[in-house]
Order: sequence, then structure tokens, then C-alpha cells
Amino acid sequence: MITDAEQLSCQELVELVTDYLEDALPEEERLRFEDHISRCGACTIYLEQIRETISLLGHLPEDSLSPEAERELLEAFQGWKRG
Ligand SMILES: [Zn+2]
Repeated sequence: MITDAEQLSCQELVELVTDYLEDALPEEERLRFEDHISRCGACTIYLEQIRETISLLGHLPEDSLSPEAERELLEAFQGWKRG
């Protein structure tokens, strides 16, 4: 059972996504990640975009997102939630 206090925020999810796709998350973190994905449409889309990027590049992007790109994404998330 996952309590509210244990739920990931969208920002935390963005930070964990490469580890998730590398299968590098501990079981507990992975469950929290999947729990968030299951209830957050914006993060589901984000995860799909990262997967698509990986399939285009053939590997994970070298660097995780720049702070600027990350901020833009989070703003987009907020927009989606309002919509
Ligand atoms: Zn989210």
C-alpha cells in the first residue's frame, strides 16, 4: 500500500526516469515510480517520449535534461493538468 507521503512528485519522477529505464531502481522506488505513472497522464507521456528518444538514439541520452528543459517540461505538466 502506498501512502500519500510516499508518492513521487512529477519532478522526482523526471529525475528517476533514466534509472527506471536502465532497470537501476531499487524495487521500492520502482513501485513508487510505476504507481505514479499509473495515475499521471503527463508522466506517462513523458516516459513514452524518453522511450522514443532511446529507440531513436539506440541508447539513453548522455546527459539527463538540462535544468531549463526540465523546467519547461514541468510547466507543460502543469498545463496538462489544468487542461
Ligand atoms: Zn506525474
